Amino acid sequence: ASANIGVVGLAVMGSNLARNLASREGNTVAIFNRSYEKTQTVLDAHPEAGFIPASTYEEFAASLQKPRTAIIMVKAGAGTDAVIQALTEVFEPGDIIVDGGNAYFPDTIRREKAVRETGINFVGAGISGGEEGALLGPSIMPGGSDESWVTLGPILKSIAAVAEGEPCVTHIGHDGAGHFVKMVHNGIEYADMQLIAEAYDLIRRGTGRSPAEIAEIFADWNKGELESYLIEITAEVLRQVDATTGKPLVDVIVDQAGAKGTGAWTVQTALALGVPVSGIAEATFARSLSSHPEQRAVAVSLPGPDDEFVVTDHDAFIEDVRLALYASKIVAYSQGFDEIRAGAAEYDWNIDLGAVSKIWRGGCIIRAQFLNRIADAYADNTDLPVLLTAPYFAEAITRAQSAWRRVVVAAAQAGIPAPAFSSSLSYYDGIRADRLPAALVQGQRDFFGAHTYKRIDREGTFHTLWSGDRTEIEAEDTH
Ligand code: NDP
Repeated sequence: ASANIGVVGLAVMGSNLARNLASREGNTVAIFNRSYEKTQTVLDAHPEAGFIPASTYEEFAASLQKPRTAIIMVKAGAGTDAVIQALTEVFEPGDIIVDGGNAYFPDTIRREKAVRETGINFVGAGISGGEEGALLGPSIMPGGSDESWVTLGPILKSIAAVAEGEPCVTHIGHDGAGHFVKMVHNGIEYADMQLIAEAYDLIRRGTGRSPAEIAEIFADWNKGELESYLIEITAEVLRQVDATTGKPLVDVIVDQAGAKGTGAWTVQTALALGVPVSGIAEATFARSLSSHPEQRAVAVSLPGPDDEFVVTDHDAFIEDVRLALYASKIVAYSQGFDEIRAGAAEYDWNIDLGAVSKIWRGGCIIRAQFLNRIADAYADNTDLPVLLTAPYFAEAITRAQSAWRRVVVAAAQAGIPAPAFSSSLSYYDGIRADRLPAALVQGQRDFFGAHTYKRIDREGTFHTLWSGDRTEIEAEDTH
């Protein structure tokens, strides 16, 4: 027993994470993969890592110091359940099983409960940053018990990305909290990517600039308040020229965006919690819309606006788009943090929202300067009900809102889809509204379903006798 940490599953993520662990002072890493070939390949390719290989789960358990700690990086779903089952048979009470895969948080809650009965600790940990993050330093979002964090904390801190001197890992909360937060991270990532794509499309169609020219715009934006990994890689993708055709690569890529499901989980969960994550939902639906070629083929002949899209002042338009992007991004993050807050309340997790924003500053896909401002906002007020009302963001939106409105108007008039830009603006106008037409919706609900309503001028619950003499009566509250 000489390894302090083990990794099960040696595909790209697991092998990179194992190498990352092995590269840090004080770690000795045991490795196991269902099929031994992968273990042998990793051993041969990385003799410097000093891995302790195992060909059976028994050997793997025997190679680990107690409390045994193992990180599972296998195909999410049945693969994860199979490995957990096998590990619980060879581990002992007090040992720690970490699932680093992209599990759906209700599965993590279920697994934690089942594993806890054996006395073994189970930790669902969201890991973001793709292959490169796994190797060089990801952002890690662990859930699980306080007891497991004592052993696991230092190990995860040793491999996490570092942002402004702080490791991008914190104990998020119990059982499924880590995977919940990772899920919302991915939802925000969908929104961020869609907003950037809409900005690109508007600039291209409004100014006729080439992808390479737009790459320069993004590179320039990356020096300011929009500075982020996603803006940076957007410039790289737009700059890329296809070797076979000589065209911009973006023009030869099929325009159908794929998805592995975490965006949909974020939206489904938000619907269940009653949290309006409209920016994330629109981004998820925009991918779905793009991925139905059979529908697009029949709809392509439908008419657009009569007038041509003419932008007279290109530079002013580009600046408007930048501001619209920033304001919409604030909405997307505000909605995402709202979902985390609601999830924490629903599942009884004590989540520090400021700490979440800090661990997203490095290693993960949505890493950005901007997250410092979110951390500041929660440092000033931990119970902030709506992130975008924090002074810094309110000021930024005040500065951006005219441009934001012009861009949404321009998109609508030009017939250019901008679902994330426009739904974010609608959310903003909705949340700041003094009165909403929800009053009328309540009236309709009372009419056909006697669902009752409340009055602005006195306590109680009321119903109008719509099919009778239309007088109002006090009613039981049935919503
Ligand atoms: P894959 O998701 O492709 O999974 C392959 C690994 O799973 C192999 O080691 C395979 O073993 C193992 N496996 C599958 N089924 C079983 C089973 N029933 N029992 C034991 N082992 C099994 O690997 P990735 O490295 O791409 O991803 C690992 C995890 O990390 C996934 O949950 C993924 O969602 C998550 N993740 C991935 C990211 C990425 O960028 N790729 C980013 C963040 C998280 P064998 O070799 O024997 O087939």
